[in-house]
Amino acid sequence: MAGLPRRRRKPPDRRRLREHATYSCDWCHEQIVVPVDASAGAEQEYVEDCPVCCRPNVIRVQVDDEGAVRVWAEQE
Ligand SMILES: [Zn+2]
Repeated sequence: MAGLPRRRRKPPDRRRLREHATYSCDWCHEQIVVPVDASAGAEQEYVEDCPVCCRPNVIRVQVDDEGAVRVWAEQE
């Protein structure tokens, strides 16, 4: 008679606050969905080539106190 298998307790799941946000490419105005790591900072900025027209956008990310994410793009 086998005892019940001990339930393995999962380690606390520190799930990062990951969201998706949409910006429209400043060149071709296509809507691009990007993953946003809100835990990386309230203000982020990085350059990403548009997957549609391959031109570089400066992506700006802003996370407000309530965790709402705002993303927009500017031409480099
Ligand atoms: Zn584009």
